[in-house]
Amino acid sequence: MTDAAIPVTQSAVEKFTEQYLRSLGCNINKEGNRWTVVTQNEIDSELLTESVTLVCGDNADEEATEELHPESSFFQALLSEASERTPTGKVTLETDDAAIQIPEWLQESDIEVRSAEFTPYYDRTALVVLLRASVETVSEYQTDLLRAVAIDTRSEEFLPMLEESFLQIASPNNDFETNESMDMPAADVRSLLDTAHDQVVDRIQGTIDEIHQEASRAADAEVEEFRQMQQQRIRELEEQLSNLSARIDDLNEQIGSSDEDERVEALKKRKELKTEYKDLNDELDNLRQRRDQGFPERQREIRARHALNVRVQPLTITEIEYERGEIEFELASKGSDHTITIGYGSGVGVTELVQCVSCGDSFSEKKYLDTIVDGLRCKDCTVDRGE
Ligand SMILES: [Zn+2]
Repeated sequence: MTDAAIPVTQSAVEKFTEQYLRSLGCNINKEGNRWTVVTQNEIDSELLTESVTLVCGDNADEEATEELHPESSFFQALLSEASERTPTGKVTLETDDAAIQIPEWLQESDIEVRSAEFTPYYDRTALVVLLRASVETVSEYQTDLLRAVAIDTRSEEFLPMLEESFLQIASPNNDFETNESMDMPAADVRSLLDTAHDQVVDRIQGTIDEIHQEASRAADAEVEEFRQMQQQRIRELEEQLSNLSARIDDLNEQIGSSDEDERVEALKKRKELKTEYKDLNDELDNLRQRRDQGFPERQREIRARHALNVRVQPLTITEIEYERGEIEFELASKGSDHTITIGYGSGVGVTELVQCVSCGDSFSEKKYLDTIVDGLRCKDCTVDRGE
């Protein structure tokens, strides 16, 4: 999960559900898109008091089954329960449990990995936290994201490979006890949760910015719409005032040239119109003044309605014991061979960067290993040498 934020897709929903149910000690029997979830005695869940059949997708055919998809009521209830309870567990990764993870810079290259041998030296502990991040505005937008963050408890380094492999490693095919209880003291867990929280916000910053821009645009449009409506009202008032003023002028003339009865009538009418004029003129003054200030109160109200609310909640916490040591890769290409020994952890992958002898940059998925003749070189340096 090292890419940009992943929305809550069907596959994320299924992965999370499986992980969560197993953390509760449920057994899941999968047959195609039908999952039969068998609960243990004394399970600590209000949602799963008895066994249930889940159908992945939105085509549950019978009443006795529950649909499992991002909007399904079962999944929403599961998320709520998980964020309230945040179940914890512990997994111990033996070296044999996890397949050797070849780094991407080797996978991308044409160099053959003839052998890979891992020698574990010591045990380390990591915490894998599954978190739900939601970015919402009161009015229209809500984006839900599920993210996993793996952190080494001692060095606090992030272990992205472990995030990816965690669900596979803890899958039912490997015989894991995910409902064993954690050894870590609560205070240590809390501080790592803060780290995980910040890391998730950091990783989804792009999505937050996007939603923020969208919300700002919506707020701008609403402010502009309001401004135009008020401008229209100003024009109406100006027109009404100019009509009133013409009628008052007429009455003024009438008052000068008519007989007693008509004069009394005209004076009465003029008084009425003047009162009306004053009221409308006050309204106009007030509107113009607010317009010149940019309708601050209304703007505040609109912007508050479109303000973002980012919430990150841990759903499950799993302590993982893994082994660290060194791995020896025997590489071969075009008649040459080369052996490298680098830091490695079970389920965590390579823990050390390897540099190109030519440019000194570390190898990565984009800067993969291209030749082992005369030292390890990246693809850019091979091209430069004209090989
Ligand atoms: Zn290079």
